[in-house]
Amino acid sequence: MPELPEVERAARRLGRAALGKTIASVKPIHPALKRKLSPAQSRAIKGKRIERIERRGKHQLLHLDSGETIVVHFRMNGDWEIGTTDGDLDPFARAVIELTDGTRISLVDRRALSSITLDKKGASSLPKLGREASDPTLDADYLAEVLRRKKIAIKPALMDQSIIAGLGNIYVAEALWEAELDPRRPAAKVSRAKLEKLIDAIRLVLSPRKRRPGRYTDKRGASRFAVYDREGKECRRCGGTVERIVQAGRSTYFCPKCQR
Ligand SMILES: [Zn+2]
Repeated sequence: MPELPEVERAARRLGRAALGKTIASVKPIHPALKRKLSPAQSRAIKGKRIERIERRGKHQLLHLDSGETIVVHFRMNGDWEIGTTDGDLDPFARAVIELTDGTRISLVDRRALSSITLDKKGASSLPKLGREASDPTLDADYLAEVLRRKKIAIKPALMDQSIIAGLGNIYVAEALWEAELDPRRPAAKVSRAKLEKLIDAIRLVLSPRKRRPGRYTDKRGASRFAVYDREGKECRRCGGTVERIVQAGRSTYFCPKCQR
């Protein structure tokens, strides 16, 4: 599941392929995407130039010279497939952006949950997003302030994009383990010292040196998780047993012995 580092990497690949280039066509292929991007919208962005590419949370924004913005979200499985307009189309291509130089950018997604929409000039369809998990100004003061009145546990709070943007189920589980923090702890009751530790842990799990982007999503990387998807296995820190519980409809993996 793409989280901040994976989406950041995808946005950079997209930038290398598309920045400064002109759109020849944008075609939604899957019915779900045809409902999100109308034929009139597709026609309207033909001939527009891609001026800037931005990541915000797990959203990718393609800013066009007309002031409009193409907004893409990979959800669970999306990715870019970059090729040329004369090549074979990926069987899981759900939408295709073709550029006038012959580049073809396919939004591929086995499960077809990804979205691609168009925002008019001056409009934004993005939900409310909190401070970026990768933002150097993200600190314990910010967390203490945004968590102060939350009546939920720390784990679902960290998953809430309006609190911190970019983290998902994997990085949250790993950061809570690094911070030795119990995912069930009420968000408003996490001590100042633990919040400081949590900030360091978030930086650590997102660090490209320590944790290469994609590490958590490829098969080889899976065995290197501290807790994620390791139910019943031994905790690498204390020898306790990793447990799986469900919080807000999502699996949480943690070690009840050393995460407090
Ligand atoms: Zn442990």
